[in-house]
Amino acid sequence: MDFNPSAKELSHFPFLKKAQDHIKGRFSSLDSLFNDRKGELLIDRALGRIQDAITVKKTSAPEITGTADDEIAAYALARIIVSCVHDKTLIDRLTRYESERAYYFLVNEEEWNQNYRQDDGDYSNLCIALAQELGIQITRDRIPLADYVELVAPLHQDRFNLVNRRLDHGLVDIKKDERYELLRERIRVLLRRDLPHKVPSSVCEKLGPRVSEIKKVYQEQMLEQFGTIEESSFPPCMQALITALTAGVNLTHAGRFALTTFLHTIGMDAQAIGQLYARSPDFDLEKTMYQVEHITGRGGSGTEYTAPACAAMRTTGLCVNPDPLCEKVSHPLSYYRAKKRGPAKDPVKKP
Ligand code: SF4
Repeated sequence: MDFNPSAKELSHFPFLKKAQDHIKGRFSSLDSLFNDRKGELLIDRALGRIQDAITVKKTSAPEITGTADDEIAAYALARIIVSCVHDKTLIDRLTRYESERAYYFLVNEEEWNQNYRQDDGDYSNLCIALAQELGIQITRDRIPLADYVELVAPLHQDRFNLVNRRLDHGLVDIKKDERYELLRERIRVLLRRDLPHKVPSSVCEKLGPRVSEIKKVYQEQMLEQFGTIEESSFPPCMQALITALTAGVNLTHAGRFALTTFLHTIGMDAQAIGQLYARSPDFDLEKTMYQVEHITGRGGSGTEYTAPACAAMRTTGLCVNPDPLCEKVSHPLSYYRAKKRGPAKDPVKKP
């Protein structure tokens, strides 16, 4: 399909190759961004995008507020900035935000796109071209089993479960709205795959003060989200790791990593995490603090690691005693957040 999107259309999907080509040559180098007011404004715009990504309660629908070129450049710059911060959760947040944003613009395309046209069934030309670039044949109501399994792996709704699907000759039936959801998921995975970028340290250094700003806001957001630590809200996997520690069992490397990153993200400081490990039979203060500080980003590398998602926990055998709330989440941190919110807002109806 030969389709040439307008600059406006590209600005709504800035991750497309054509969008990136559109602004190629606009900057002679990344360094040139720091030399003029225009560059500063673009950095502000990129930081605004990250700020939106980490804001838990979105109060307004996504919109394009600048020129198409600025929008595409801000998207690319936001990715550079989170690469400098090098925090997995922040990178995840940004890629989720970008995929949600694209999903919104796809579903509501008739409202913002004067060029909206449907030449081929239910979907607009833009949507079909975008899906093609992402490797999904959106006009088909069935997709190959292998593609389906890969796409729905992180989705936890029962309706995506294979047992609830019609499977015929290696093809899985999907509905129109679900195709948008699968596109959103594909966008998220692809955008996540190339992050963090390898950004020259000179650029990260120049971005330093702005990066510190975003780190501060991000930490405040995390504190706001997780608040005081409530052990009773820990997911079963984390409770099992703590019980094992308390019983004097040595945790595997994967177990230590999962527990440390989880506790760090919910706000426990390195000292308190170290004290928890003092219950371990092979406790070695110096070694433990070195490991904890390394994982929590205080050990010199500056890299903060994030607690593994449920899928990874299952792979390493650390997902134990899952309860009904576990069926609704894909991450131990989401479990903790949901449980802390309390039974009134808990999505699971207790018997
Ligand atoms: S499903 Fe997730 S949150 Fe629940 S026990 Fe397993 S890893 Fe933990």
